[in-house]
Formats: sequence, C-alpha cells, structure tokens
Amino acid sequence: MEAGVVKALKRVLGEDRVLLDEEKLEPYQLATIPVDRKIPGALKPRTVAEVQEVVRIANAHRIPLYPISTGRNWGYGSANPVRDDSLILDLGDMNRIVEVNTELAYAVIEPGVSQQQLYEHLERHRTGLMMDPTGSGPACSVLGNTLERGYGITAYGDHFEALCGMEVVLADGSVLRTGFGHYDQATATHLFKYGVGPYLDGIFTQSNFGIVTKIGLWLMPVPESFEAGYFFCRSEADLGPVIDVTRGLLLNRVVKGSINLLHRNRSLTVLTQYPWHRMRGRTPLDEKTWQELGAEKGVGIWNGVVALYGTREEIRAAKRIIKRRLRPHVAKLQFVSNRLLRLLERFQRPLGLLLGMNLSELLKALKPSYELMKGKPGEVSLPTPYWRMKKPVPDANIDPARDNCGLYWFAPVIPMTRHHVRTFIQTVEPIFDRHGFEPCITLTTVTHRAFDCTLPILYNKEDPEETERASACYRDVLKACMKAGYIPYRFGIQSMEELAGREDRFWEVVETIKNALDPNGIIAPGRYCR
Ligand code: ADP
Repeated sequence: MEAGVVKALKRVLGEDRVLLDEEKLEPYQLATIPVDRKIPGALKPRTVAEVQEVVRIANAHRIPLYPISTGRNWGYGSANPVRDDSLILDLGDMNRIVEVNTELAYAVIEPGVSQQQLYEHLERHRTGLMMDPTGSGPACSVLGNTLERGYGITAYGDHFEALCGMEVVLADGSVLRTGFGHYDQATATHLFKYGVGPYLDGIFTQSNFGIVTKIGLWLMPVPESFEAGYFFCRSEADLGPVIDVTRGLLLNRVVKGSINLLHRNRSLTVLTQYPWHRMRGRTPLDEKTWQELGAEKGVGIWNGVVALYGTREEIRAAKRIIKRRLRPHVAKLQFVSNRLLRLLERFQRPLGLLLGMNLSELLKALKPSYELMKGKPGEVSLPTPYWRMKKPVPDANIDPARDNCGLYWFAPVIPMTRHHVRTFIQTVEPIFDRHGFEPCITLTTVTHRAFDCTLPILYNKEDPEETERASACYRDVLKACMKAGYIPYRFGIQSMEELAGREDRFWEVVETIKNALDPNGIIAPGRYCR
C-alpha cells in the first residue's frame, strides 16, 4: 500500500487501528478451509463516521475493503476475503447495543455485538426478552450471522425475518437507512420492516453492496413456558414418517420453533472424536464401529429435538398432538421441562443408580442444547470440526479456525418430503464414501416447508492429501446437489466465482446493481457477485 494511503488511514483511525504487521494479520488468515489469501492490512474503525472516511479513502485510491463483524464465518472462509489484496475492515470494535426496547421487543445493535454480549445484556437488565442463538458459539457476531441469513432453532430462528431497519455505509461514503429509517421523524423504523417504496434490506444481505453498521432485530418475549422434546428412531425406515409428521406440525403451527433431525453420525461428532485407536488409524469410519459408538453413547439412527414455546396450556396441547403423531414412529419421546431438568440435576446420583444409567454424562450432553433453545449461546455444537483432529477439543473457548480444524460447511435446502430427503441422501452419501469421509447430516426446518441440511466435510487439515480429497469431495457434492436441485442457502468464499460467474440473468442483475452502487468495486469484490 502506498505510504500516502497508510498515512491518510492512520489520520482517520489512529496509529494502532491500522494493522500492517504480519503477526497482527495472522488471525485474519486462519480458516478451516484450505485458503491462503494475501491480506495487506486490517482496519479497525470505532464509529460510523470513521467507516465513512475509510470508504472515501479506499474509493479514491481504488483499494478493496472486506468488511467483517467478528470474522468467525467458520467453514465458509472465516475472516478471509474472497479476493487477494483486500484490506480487512474489522468492525468488531463497533460493539454497542444501541437500544433495547422491552415494550416493543427489539434491539438495535452494531456489527461487533456477540451472541454472548447480547444474551448477557438481556439477562442483566431483566428485559424479559430472549435472543435466538446459532450453534456457532458465544463469540460470534449477531449481525454478521443475520447478514448471511443464518438461522437458529427458537421461534425467531429466521434471522433475516427478524431483521428490521438497517444502517448501511455505501461505497461513496454516504449513509443509507432502510425501512422508515430515512425519515427523521419515523416512529416505526424497527417495527415495520418494509417502509415505503422498494424493499431494499434484502440486497444488503449475502451481497457486497454496502457496509452494514447497525440493524434492528426483533426479540422474542421470554415465554411463560418452555419444553424440549427429544426423540429417536429405531431404523432408517422411520425417517420418512417422521418427516411427514414434522411437516404437519410446522405447517399447522403446532410447533412455533423448529425441529432438528440429527443423523447418528452427526450426533456422535458432537459427543466424541474419531476413534483413531479402535480404527487402528484407518479412515473412514465403518458402519460396524458407528453402530458400536451409537450404542455406547445412546444415540439412535436419527435423533430429533423439538422446542416448544408458549403458555402452559399451549404447550400441554402441543405435547398431546406431538405424542399422538410421533409416538408410532419413534423409539422414545421424552419431554424435558425446567422442573424435570432441576430434578435430574439434584438427584442425579440416586436416580442414575435407579435407572441404571450415567445421568451426569447425559446431563452434560443435554443441558447445553436445552439452554441453546432457551436463548443461551453455547459451545455445544462446536466440537464437530474436531472430529478428525488428533488433539482433544478444548474445554472452553473453542475456535476451530485457531486450532486448524478441517471443516467445509455445505448447507443445501431440501423440500420437506420423504422423497426429496431420500433422493438428497442418496446423492451425497456415495460421494462422501468415494472420497473417504463420513456424511454427518443434520436437517433443520428453516421454513415450514423446507429443511436446511448442514452437512460438514470433516477432515484433517494437517494432512495435505486428505485436504485435497476434502476439496474434491466439496466440489463433487456441490456439483451433484446443484444438478439435483438442492442448492445451498449460503456459500463459502471458495465458491463465489462459480456461483456468480455463470451465465444467468439473476447474477447479471446483481452485477448491474453492484455497478450502480459501487462503480469502483471497492466493497468485498467477488462476494456473491461477479
Ligand atoms: P460471524 O463471525 O458471525 O460468522 P462474520 O463477521 O464472519 O460473522 O460475517 C460473515 C460474513 O458476512 C463476512 O465474511 C462478511 O463477508 C459479511 N459481513 C459481516 N459483517 C458485515 C458488515 N457489517 N457489513 C457487510 N458485510 C458484512
């Protein structure tokens, strides 16, 4: 970078907020996918005015900026830019919770606000509101995930649906407020999503049209009652009827949250690591060993969880319906309430002896997932990327990119029918097999009509041959699923070229908008765009 530009940036941000040393840039380069981007520097603004100034400088000198919030986009590229030579615009220090309105149940937050920060704020101030955490962990940005249109599993699980009113710095340095936010007197900016005129918010998610500096986010009032139902299937054949029941429960709004169906393999990646010793170093894991591990850990071939929110009466009624519809198809269905959990905790030793099971192990696995559904962010899902690592999962502060775990996320959307789920599984399984990896499927109801499947490719990143195989597996599985019509809802930085580069009117229109808003192409070049 030219000395003049560095000087101008330092004048705006201060000496210590323009990072150029290799050592300071290293954290931005870590990733769970094999990428090696050239990152010339990172900038750490603290205010919207500073972001505007930085953008003006970047525009004048044609320097690409890659905005990140907390940069923990694991499995999709982490903090790495799509293109080499982009300056990272790290918004992590813009982490104010600007407003929480308890009466109208929303918050206004900046990019650096982490899930844990928002959770603690809501608790500490006894707001009576809860957030919808993703499984990505306490330190991840709420805004970053919302911009990627991520999801959780509470009744406010669709994060884009909960977004209301944005503040965006555009490539010319101006500030755009969406919805009613551009009217100074507006009283409903964070209450009515659409404002008046074209609805623009969508174009600032999964795009490179602007730098988002604030969003309004609807929050759920803590319900009078909460229960989680856990169930598991005896055989693969039970999955079909369970899918039919799931669709019925959601379409008819018996369930307000979502339903998660985890394949045995996926559950086991959360509970344990690859049994290297038992497999004498061989990969992939064979069916016999999967079965043994499943039996040891007490997980079924498909394991479901359904979260219920509402009044006591609503939950009682929902449970009755769920039991009636689900019981014929599952081996076990157990509802867990706060009271039951407290009881289990208090009497874990005697109850464990009575039931002949290790209740403390069970509680260790159960409680974090239960709390996640109650709006408390946690690390319960984070051991998965460590599956093939030969070192143990850290007890706390889990960070798969820091620990050089090998993880590609692949997240296609699948119609919620048994036919499509079967076709999807038949499409992906042979590809994983061929490349020597274990398919570890979770199906989450992302709408009332579709599942999103989060399918990780878990590999040993310290082994170059295995890493190459993982990349080939990713390419093949993506190609096959695109062909079969199971298209991912989100892409990693490695796939942007392929996604947007093809001949397609949709991506041409995206390009036209990009050229209008950012003619010099300085914001996140290549991200969801040609
Ligand atoms: P998280 O740490 O929650 O995964 P990230 O900060 O990694 O979130 O954000 C995910 C992706 O969204 C980033 O790679 C970046 O491309 C984009 N992004 C994040 N924050 C912003 C923002 N404030 N403005 C524009 N794009 C953003």
